[in-house]
Amino acid sequence: MFDQSAIDALRDAPVTPGRLLIGGDRREAGDGATLVVISPLNGARLTTIADATSEDVEDAVHAARAAFEDRRWAGQPPAARKKVLLEWADLIEREWLDLAVLGVRDNGTEIAMAGKAEVGSAVGAIRWYAEAIDKIYGEIAPTADAALGLIHREPVGVIGAIVPWNFPLMIGTWKLAPALAAGNSVVLKPSETASLTLIRIAELALEAGLPKGVLNVVTGRGARCGQALAMSMDVDALVFTGSGPTGRRLLEASAKSNLKRVYLELGGKSPNIVFDDVEDLAEAAKVSAAGIFRNSGQVCVAGSRLLVQKGIARDFTDAMARIASEMRVGDPLDLGTQAGAVSSEGQLAQNLEHVRHAQEQGATVSTGGTRIMQETGGTYMAPTVVSDVTPDLRIFNDEVFGPVVTVTPFEDEAEAVLLANATEYGLAAGVWTANLGRAHRMIRAVRAGVVHVNTYGGADITVPLGGIKQSGNGHDKSLHAFDKFLDLKTAWIKL
Ligand code: NDP
Repeated sequence: MFDQSAIDALRDAPVTPGRLLIGGDRREAGDGATLVVISPLNGARLTTIADATSEDVEDAVHAARAAFEDRRWAGQPPAARKKVLLEWADLIEREWLDLAVLGVRDNGTEIAMAGKAEVGSAVGAIRWYAEAIDKIYGEIAPTADAALGLIHREPVGVIGAIVPWNFPLMIGTWKLAPALAAGNSVVLKPSETASLTLIRIAELALEAGLPKGVLNVVTGRGARCGQALAMSMDVDALVFTGSGPTGRRLLEASAKSNLKRVYLELGGKSPNIVFDDVEDLAEAAKVSAAGIFRNSGQVCVAGSRLLVQKGIARDFTDAMARIASEMRVGDPLDLGTQAGAVSSEGQLAQNLEHVRHAQEQGATVSTGGTRIMQETGGTYMAPTVVSDVTPDLRIFNDEVFGPVVTVTPFEDEAEAVLLANATEYGLAAGVWTANLGRAHRMIRAVRAGVVHVNTYGGADITVPLGGIKQSGNGHDKSLHAFDKFLDLKTAWIKL
């Protein structure tokens, strides 16, 4: 997709400091505060971003409210909104390489992945929702002759979108694209560790013709500007991807403020279940390795809990360990790299601590478990396979959010289901089997929002993604994403 020399030419390009975008104006934070952005590739200072105050956040919410109330966007015909969004996607596509490299320098994802999963997904999502919005109809209720019941779909109003650092463009546009297509105004709060690409695409939205105030961006610390957005009395709904503790804070903030709706996507501890009738063990190991180690495991749906049927457990563990130890971990801007940097020192320290604790509790580190390439100044971790993991171990239950997979053997289908569901999470799962009946039984039995069969990951924009249990509520992707951004309104007319 990319040419290495073109990537290298951008490797050290200066990065403009990130500013707030409020009512179409680029601004510093009200108190002038900034945060330094450190690149996980080498620990060097990349640039700064504005650290928004709670007053800045309120300004952004007011700008969004004003834009919504005067209907400068919601009042445009869906086909006109579609045109602007398609233009936006074109402008992003034109900056594909620049955005991909900027994103990698900001959060450490490998460049091949950043091009496809980040910029490619963002362009794809915007186009998909742009194309969908003029095909959404209202309904007529099946009433008696004396009345007419109309069901309208209307934009919700002002949406607060709080997104994480692992796939800022992809996850960001899963929320922005349907929210904007539906006619809402948005205040976006990116993660302080990955704001730069979202700031840039918001600027491109203005260039594409999105009216001022419809999309606002507030950057800065979660506990300051994120919390202010959550507490705002004038935000109608919050859409969020991130950690469970922050999700709980958002629900509390809603209860303490205006009862805004809160939709949460909170990650998981997803089981990837391999039966001994798997058709191609080597292929299953290869795909399963990608399903946990890509983006250094910093993927909400990562298959982080391998459950393997006893007869093949040793062979499968060995295969995974071999793949993990042979993976090319390194410079994320090198096209040959298969796993880039962990996003920050803090995240890396947490990952290593999880592995150390598992070892103390009796698990075996089959490969990895160490920091590598420290001489670069970057935050790199060897892909790690931890075997002999029993359900009582902390690592069986806690989301590591790093390149760490655990292996737990099981006897039969019933035990596989028990182990798969022995988690507070319910986001994703994988099942590997040549038995069609078993595959369907497992799809029904495993409590998760998505079950992959004979593959892991790769579901496209046409299908919903959302969790059950403590993985959250609501759905990103597919037409169902509009449920969060379009309200139903009934008109009852006496004839
Ligand atoms: P957080 O939940 O802290 O961050 C997600 C977003 O919420 C960021 O934009 C963050 O801003 C913001 N935020 C943080 N605190 C508040 C608050 N009090 N009010 C409003 N917004 C807030 O996740 P982390 O980045 O700290 O990651 C921690 C763990 O969360 C990971 O190790 C992983 O387990 C999980 N995670 C899951 C993700 C998923 O895809 N489901 C994605 C990311 C993390 P800021 O970054 O500026 O603090």
